[in-house]
Amino acid sequence: GKFRDGLEKTRNSFSERVNDLVARYRKVDEEFFEELEEVLIGADVGFTTVMELIDALKMEVKRRNIQDTKEVHSVISEKLVEIYQGEDDASPRLNLEEGRLNVILMVGVNGVGKTTTIGKLANRLKNEGKSVLLAAGDTFRAGAIEQLEVWGERVGVDVIKQGAGSDPAAVMYDAVQAAKARKVDVLLCDTAGRLQNKVNLMKELEKVKRVIEREIPGAPHEVLLVLDATTGQNAMLQAKQFSQATSVTGIVLTKLDGTAKGGIVLAIRNELSIPVKLVGLGEKVDDLQQFDAEQYVYGLFA
Ligand code: GDP
Repeated sequence: GKFRDGLEKTRNSFSERVNDLVARYRKVDEEFFEELEEVLIGADVGFTTVMELIDALKMEVKRRNIQDTKEVHSVISEKLVEIYQGEDDASPRLNLEEGRLNVILMVGVNGVGKTTTIGKLANRLKNEGKSVLLAAGDTFRAGAIEQLEVWGERVGVDVIKQGAGSDPAAVMYDAVQAAKARKVDVLLCDTAGRLQNKVNLMKELEKVKRVIEREIPGAPHEVLLVLDATTGQNAMLQAKQFSQATSVTGIVLTKLDGTAKGGIVLAIRNELSIPVKLVGLGEKVDDLQQFDAEQYVYGLFA
């Protein structure tokens, strides 16, 4: 399905390299594992996961007395699924409850796909039967409000906004009041993502968050950080910066379809301990999927 299609680039590149390895080595030995390690790291899988995986592979190869490198391929996906099994982040759900106003704050730098993700997520929630309202909290980037309105129209969801350059905290206050009055299920809040002034950006996020916290005890129920999978280590760095500044509860990894380095999902999970909750697998409105470890791993290797 969607997962498999979205991971095509990663899968092809990975398969090509593993097939090449298998053809060159034939017999499983230490050098084979060393090269396999490099292939995995090259796919942005992340050092810790690669080590964990290679150890598990070596043990399994020994246990089953596997000598032919051709047999290793399937063992890789088995072991990766095992690493995830029993973990509570194998398929983490959004923290949404019926009977309350749920607030989701979307954060991330410009260009990662934040607006698109908000549109897709609004559509997804609507299809689940929830009423949704959008808050145009990026008052800084030219065109951000209009872009959100376009998405709002496309998926049939209202947008609460003020003029460009207005105080985002004031927009949030308005949006929360509107959401309460209309008794909506989910308020989805856009925020600014300018990188030019990191300190101000983080301060602004905190201010926006405080307004929400004050108006709705327990909110925001999710702070989702949107990261672009094609940016590799840069995405990792952004994740570190945002999680230092604010309590990020989940990651949305966009553009997985646009990279051959889809292993970054595993690196994020291992190095940041923030669950990947949603993944973007294309530009269309239904190209947003709930993350699922098993589907992901099979999409990568199978
Ligand atoms: P923002 O600046 O973070 O709000 O980014 P946008 O939402 O405007 O997205 C930037 C570009 O990335 C647009 O061209 C989107 O169509 C594209 N985009 C967003 N998500 C995905 C995705 O999952 N896959 C692909 N291929 N493109 C995406």
